[in-house]
Amino acid sequence: MIKKLREYIKDAQDKSVAIGHFNISNLEGLHGIYNGAKKLSDEVGELVPVIIGVSEGEEKFAGLAEVTALVKTIRERDNYPIFLNADHHSSFESVKACIDIGFDMVIIDAAKLPHAENIALTKQCVDYAHEVIKNTGRDILVEAELGFIGSGSDIKESIPEGAGILTTPSDAKDFVDATGIDLFAPSVGSIHGLIKSGKPHIDADLVKKIAEITQVPLVLHGGSGLRDEDFTNAIKSGICIVHINSELRLAYRDAVDKAIDANPNEITPAKLLTPAVEAIEKIVESRLKLFNHIN
Ligand SMILES: [Zn+2]
Repeated sequence: MIKKLREYIKDAQDKSVAIGHFNISNLEGLHGIYNGAKKLSDEVGELVPVIIGVSEGEEKFAGLAEVTALVKTIRERDNYPIFLNADHHSSFESVKACIDIGFDMVIIDAAKLPHAENIALTKQCVDYAHEVIKNTGRDILVEAELGFIGSGSDIKESIPEGAGILTTPSDAKDFVDATGIDLFAPSVGSIHGLIKSGKPHIDADLVKKIAEITQVPLVLHGGSGLRDEDFTNAIKSGICIVHINSELRLAYRDAVDKAIDANPNEITPAKLLTPAVEAIEKIVESRLKLFNHIN
């Protein structure tokens, strides 16, 4: 039987592994991610949970109801622990829409707002999730972040200005206590997107301190392009979920480019896009291996 996402996260904490969170915009992305997770599950003889994320833009493109139905269909048909998250939603209304339609978790991203407003908006989302849990018996997790991790899953020339200011353990504790969030995304060195000049470095000691003082599972954003050992150290220090998006977008784009170049007269989408699904599948499987310490 499938457990609640909350329980898979607890398992990840206990085993010092992390659940992979991968974003989608379309069906190719979903198939690639699910195929990768399923393949690894078959190899290790154990279900490897996975979280599908949609940002506000990705959700608009894919369709809120459509993406919800797709993930739910796979979960129920295959009895597979695949979950859906509202990645970086910026308003109460957009968070509420995702909760109401059946998402398993939401991220309220109010980190750009003044601190008091960030706390108030985050708390509003937590309170709403609790109300829905009480009224429906469903489980919904709320995540929020503090500090600026940069924005946009794109290719950046260098680390953006103002990004990379690290979250202090005491600020983290105050924020978690004031909001009652289930999961916390600290700024610990990673940056959203792929950085052309140099790889960001994760401060694993800081992860450990924040995990100890806040006592909530921690989430690492901006996982694309990090060194393997940075992931491993961060996960051993308390990271329970790792976000990957840009790496999948780049692989998708490259695979589509190559398929079109190699078959200039091909017009069948399934033929042109299968290499993109396979490219995503490969990355997802290899990242999940790393996050679960499987060689
Ligand atoms: Zn993120």
